[in-house]
Amino acid sequence: MLSGAWRALAEEIAFWRDAGLTVEFWWRDDDAARPAPALARLLALSANASVPLALAVVPLGADPGLLAGFGEPVSVLQHGTDHRNRALRGEKKTEFPVSEPPRVAAARLAMAREQLEVRAGNRFIPVLAPPWNRLPEALVPHLAAAGFRGLSQYGARRSAEPATGLRQVNTHVDVIGWRAGRGFAGEDESLAAATMHLAAKRAGAADRREATGWLTHHAVHDDAAWTFLERLFETTRKLPGVRWRSAPELFHIS
Ligand SMILES: [Zn+2]
Repeated sequence: MLSGAWRALAEEIAFWRDAGLTVEFWWRDDDAARPAPALARLLALSANASVPLALAVVPLGADPGLLAGFGEPVSVLQHGTDHRNRALRGEKKTEFPVSEPPRVAAARLAMAREQLEVRAGNRFIPVLAPPWNRLPEALVPHLAAAGFRGLSQYGARRSAEPATGLRQVNTHVDVIGWRAGRGFAGEDESLAAATMHLAAKRAGAADRREATGWLTHHAVHDDAAWTFLERLFETTRKLPGVRWRSAPELFHIS
């Protein structure tokens, strides 16, 4: 028996289908640094559900064994450099405080990118997913020169190309309730966020060409979060008109 939130999502997807449009989803998971049972479970989930996973890895914290044994269809994104909170007093948590000159931050990012690229090999795609999804606007025009072709944050994007040579595709559904004990945010809340983003795109209030992104954090998933993801993939993969896209497809990187 489907709950109201599942029905609302299915209805929204039906509106898209009736309009001849494809619902595009994608999946980003943050904070991978070392091998752990939760990471193994994440990779198995991706493989079993045949849903492409974009894994945002912390380059300077990455264990050399982390990227061994990754199968298809996993892409590695760059999750900042060291994930250290450098926020000044009064600033929200960020690895990139506004006080850091953009050129310095860009050099730090480029160095970390080179390290991650060596470790991740052909799984790596040069897309930056900054920790806490935060990045000063002044840094964005420096990212392409630091070797990045994509940027991924949170919330409906304002621009598909925020700087020349840089493509942006965000996430829109955070399945973790950070303020409520870091467990699963709940089925209703997660599904409603997805339905709202789809409805906003359909109404022209958000960029229709931006895929709706699901954001997970394997290290803090409780049983309810894992069960929800299994159900989400199983349910949506069977729905006509829904496509789960890979990060290379969305960022136009082959
Ligand atoms: Zn993070």
